[in-house]
Amino acid sequence: PFDVLVIGGGPAGASAAVYAARKGIRTGIVAERFGGQIMDTLGIENFISVKYTEGPKLAASLEEHVKEYNVDIMNTQRAKRLEKKDLVEIELENGAVLKSKAVILSTGARWRNVGVPGEAEFKNKGVAYCPHCDGPLFEGKHVAVIGGGNSGIEAAIDLAGIVRHVTVIEFLPELKADSVLQERLHSLPNVTVITNAQTKEIHGNETVNGISYIDRATNEEHHIELEGVFVQIGLVPNTDWLEGSVERTARGEIIIDNHGATNIPGVFAAGDCTNSAYKQIIISMGSGATAALGAFDYLIRN
Ligand code: FAD
Repeated sequence: PFDVLVIGGGPAGASAAVYAARKGIRTGIVAERFGGQIMDTLGIENFISVKYTEGPKLAASLEEHVKEYNVDIMNTQRAKRLEKKDLVEIELENGAVLKSKAVILSTGARWRNVGVPGEAEFKNKGVAYCPHCDGPLFEGKHVAVIGGGNSGIEAAIDLAGIVRHVTVIEFLPELKADSVLQERLHSLPNVTVITNAQTKEIHGNETVNGISYIDRATNEEHHIELEGVFVQIGLVPNTDWLEGSVERTARGEIIIDNHGATNIPGVFAAGDCTNSAYKQIIISMGSGATAALGAFDYLIRN
């Protein structure tokens, strides 16, 4: 069996694997797609000490770093079940069952898409999901934020300090964000809020140049010219497969303590699949390190 088996090969999983392997223990990593979300990311400017990189390049460096160590990499394999017996058992979609003394779950998350024409086509060409990451690319421009919940309104407030104008588009008749956020938003001079609006299409040529929506009260279609669209309608953790095994929040995030431990002894978690605050590369890597050290601590005590 493995000493530490990492499930997920994004920044959190790669970091956990390196930290575990450096303890000289038998380490494996199972990943559906090594690299994770950064494979879909163009420019990265907030991975501290690296002024600029691109997702696929960072993913290649992660893999190279993991390969410096004796880590058993099982890429393009998907875990489908976790069971705690004497050891922790992980069943893969291909039927294989892997056993390990400790497991680190780092299966990440995905942004919920609006699913309108133009969204996929203009991803990274004006359609963005992370204001902390991509906000500065839209300096001086007009952008829309789709979604009037807490993350949408936080994004709008954040972006209003960088871009020329922000238009918030909310499907429901009113914003759902906390009132303190709404008050802050309404105090800003360069924000427009449109409620009861169903996004119809994101338009563009090479990059985004507009958005159209339907006013749900009148059924009329409207068009706004702008250069960017931030989709903020939720982040979905990849944890469905843990239903009934590991304790999760109502939103499906794995609940961890400050050592990365879950409710199951020997099962740790890190990164975007957990209830940790803020979902970023540097934060995922830090939590991967925490979980690996937590798992090592567990191993020397058991
Ligand atoms: P992920 O990167 O999601 O990796 C999850 C891993 O688990 C993948 O290998 C996946 O294939 C695997 N997996 C999932 N389910 C299973 C399963 N059942 N079995 C086996 N493997 C599984 N952050 C920044 O800091 N700066 C940025 O500029 C930035 N830009 C971004 C741009 C975009 C378009 C997106 C989508 C995100 C961006 N982020 C950015 C956020 C950042 O990418 C994430 O916070 C980070 O990748 C999270 O790392 P993670 O390892 O927790 O999860």
